[in-house]
Amino acid sequence: MTESRTESMPMDEGEVVKTNNQPTENRPFALKRWNALAVWAWDVDCDTCAICRVHLMEECLRCQSESSTECVVVWGDCNHSFHNCCMSQWIRQNNRCPLCQKNWVVQRIGK
Ligand SMILES: [Zn+2]
Ligand SMILES: [Zn+2]
Ligand SMILES: [Zn+2]
Repeated sequence: MTESRTESMPMDEGEVVKTNNQPTENRPFALKRWNALAVWAWDVDCDTCAICRVHLMEECLRCQSESSTECVVVWGDCNHSFHNCCMSQWIRQNNRCPLCQKNWVVQRIGK
């Protein structure tokens, strides 16, 4: 009685294309991988700056010690967020998101 079909998966992001050419027995495996990806995305979605490890609602380490600059949060196109001051330091050496390694494109800056 286990007729679970994966035809109506809500979002297919390239992963499903692979399974088209393959026998049906490969399908459960593909589904598992997709689940793992989703869990991973949840895990990364936290409110801590991955660069200085300080919560994004608080000022970054640098701003805490100087207490003169305004510490804002920057969101990238990949939906990861960091302190703007941490990120501007980071992209001098590496123009990629420290969490997902995608090219860093600023989506918005604010609180
Ligand atoms: Zn930071
Ligand atoms: Zn700061
Ligand atoms: Zn990212």
